[in-house]
Amino acid sequence: MEGRLSICATPIGNLEDITLRVLRTLKEADLIAAEDTRQTIKLLNAYDIETPMISYHKFNEQTRGPQLVQMMQEGKHIALVSDAGTPGISDPGETLIRLCYEAGVPVTSLPGPSAFVTAMTLSGLHMRRFVFEGFLPTDKKEQQALLESLRTETRPVLFYEAPHHLTRTLETLGTAVGDRRVVTVRELTKKHEERRSGTIAELLAAYEEDPPRGEFVIIVDGADPEMLRQEEEKQWEDLSIEEHMALYPDLPEKEAMKRVAKDRGIRKQDVYAALKS
Ligand code: SAM
Repeated sequence: MEGRLSICATPIGNLEDITLRVLRTLKEADLIAAEDTRQTIKLLNAYDIETPMISYHKFNEQTRGPQLVQMMQEGKHIALVSDAGTPGISDPGETLIRLCYEAGVPVTSLPGPSAFVTAMTLSGLHMRRFVFEGFLPTDKKEQQALLESLRTETRPVLFYEAPHHLTRTLETLGTAVGDRRVVTVRELTKKHEERRSGTIAELLAAYEEDPPRGEFVIIVDGADPEMLRQEEEKQWEDLSIEEHMALYPDLPEKEAMKRVAKDRGIRKQDVYAALKS
């Protein structure tokens, strides 16, 4: 049989959250590439799976990735599992998946739990449209750019976070977006599953009393479009029409007048009149 990679979603806490197809694939595969073999062995033991494991994580992906690809090219069927949830979502799985495509190795994905999807459904927020950011970038410039974009983001934004960074991350988010509504969920599918909702300041106060424990997903609610519009209009009020026109130096005068009128919610004739007076 042709070698291939099966991306296998595994539980994010509750061992019963696993599909029949993933269990069969884990049994049938030649090898399981696991992000944390100590974690995955618990799952394998619970379901009497004796397939050998090999570690594949962010500290060995550079060397281990090409080795795994070679094995698949030689005909091996490898099942990829992460610490928890769906491989390829905020974990090193995505590197191996890309390597397989580059080498022409067939890949298939077996759906199942992912922490951010479970968090979305539990949040109680409007989730028709959303943004998933995973972990906040550690690179300062990248982080700054993301934080700036959050101020005007009207969709809820999801972040992954570890307990020891939760308070700092909430503070960082609060500085970027003000005291916006936020939902935190932790220990999803486990005994101590918990959802908290409030403004960022309220949750920070609550975590000071009762320090964060367990794995978290943070959902920052989107900005209110009406409030953004009012803020923008207020910003224009502080500018004269001439100063406002100067913000569009590259546009022909007529176009700039149209833009200024639209920004300020007034008629184009009023912009013209103000400029001529
Ligand atoms: N691939 C995984 C997935 O599909 O969700 C995510 C891997 S990422 C390295 C790990 C992060 O997922 C944790 O830091 C936490 O933010 C989130 N996470 C995983 N399990 C969770 C759980 N049971 N409850 C809340 N968050 C969880």
